[in-house]
Amino acid sequence: MKKFDLKYYPDPVLRKVSSPVIKVNSVIRQLIKGMSKIMYYHKGIGLAAPQVGTLERVIIADIGEGLISMINPEILTGFGEDNMEEGCLSLPDTVVNIKRKQSILVRYIDKSENEKESELNGLTARVIQHEIDHLNGVLIIDYAPLTKILNQNIKNRF
Ligand SMILES: [Zn+2]
Repeated sequence: MKKFDLKYYPDPVLRKVSSPVIKVNSVIRQLIKGMSKIMYYHKGIGLAAPQVGTLERVIIADIGEGLISMINPEILTGFGEDNMEEGCLSLPDTVVNIKRKQSILVRYIDKSENEKESELNGLTARVIQHEIDHLNGVLIIDYAPLTKILNQNIKNRF
């Protein structure tokens, strides 16, 4: 079995756009298995394939209610908004307050290759939005206000 390891910012793989999965085969199922091992080992609640160096549109999440895995996830609509501080396994020292949709309707393929649609709310909806960002090369620091980034730069320029 292929060994996966967690990629940390600024690894360039985290900035690439992942490709859609064409066929849900044993390679994809091994990827999901490897990703869940890493997510649980690092006590995360979500993980996207680019975080293990694989540019395929695969994400997983577990907020304590069981493992969800999604292939080629796509947000069809979103409702409401809320703010929450988010961390990321690939940026261990960073926390950013991010406004996201409170609930989302997401279409995806499951690991048995069935097309599904789910309405997700609260923390699950948030994690899925965070993970889909990873598939597009978007990271939590992209939501940080510019002033905050500038302040940090100034602080480090003694
Ligand atoms: Zn992340």
